Amino acid sequence: MTRTSPTEVTGYRNDGVGTAVALVNVVTTGGRDASAETLRALLASYNFKVDELLTEDETQMLRDWALRLRPVFAEVDQALAIDLLNALMVEAPMRPHISDHGLGPHLHYGPPGAALVDRVKANTAVGLAFVICEYGAGRLGVCLDAGCERVYADIARGPRRRYCSKACLNRNTVAAFRARQTPTST
Ligand SMILES: [Zn+2]
Ligand SMILES: [Zn+2]
Repeated sequence: MTRTSPTEVTGYRNDGVGTAVALVNVVTTGGRDASAETLRALLASYNFKVDELLTEDETQMLRDWALRLRPVFAEVDQALAIDLLNALMVEAPMRPHISDHGLGPHLHYGPPGAALVDRVKANTAVGLAFVICEYGAGRLGVCLDAGCERVYADIARGPRRRYCSKACLNRNTVAAFRARQTPTST
């Protein structure tokens, strides 16, 4: 599982923003299979402690959560994006505390001993909340590429991002360049 998302908002130890992006993309785009094993590997790659195979219930709850996170990325009106995210945060069990399970002290947003799906809900929702509060909802988006529906979180310095990946950016840059080179017929 490649990690393409920036991590500085909530710390590398448990990157809620990156997890949200990866989860939404794997579940909602490109016909990628969101099997229990795929989701388990994804969460493990984002430092979630996943002890066992995901149950069918957990798998379905994670897919449902991804489908509900996606509109936060797609919504262009900041007030509406905030409403969507606030509704999700109210739903996710939150009891912030500092934990250290071999990674060094870091914040957990859910209750101590929370079940995996609740941990994912708390961390992804809070991660996206940090992005909106620190940078604005405009930093969460859906790739501008016509054939791509992946989402991104843009928290890097420098020019604003409009594409999910370098691949999509490059493809569109080349297409725009070719369009300019094509002589207009007279
Ligand atoms: Zn942790
Ligand atoms: Zn894309």
